[in-house]
Amino acid sequence: MRVNITMACTECKRRNYISSKNKKTTPDRLEVKKYCSFCKTHTVHKETK
Ligand SMILES: [Zn+2]
Repeated sequence: MRVNITMACTECKRRNYISSKNKKTTPDRLEVKKYCSFCKTHTVHKETK
């Protein structure tokens, strides 16, 4: 039931993280605050397809 997702920085739009989630428990797009090495700070990362 787990699917692989890509987390992209909302500031620079770069895809920084590859993760996985459970589609059944998390049907919405994930939004996580993570460190972006391009922005050199913590930014909101959104799930992309
Ligand atoms: Zn960034």
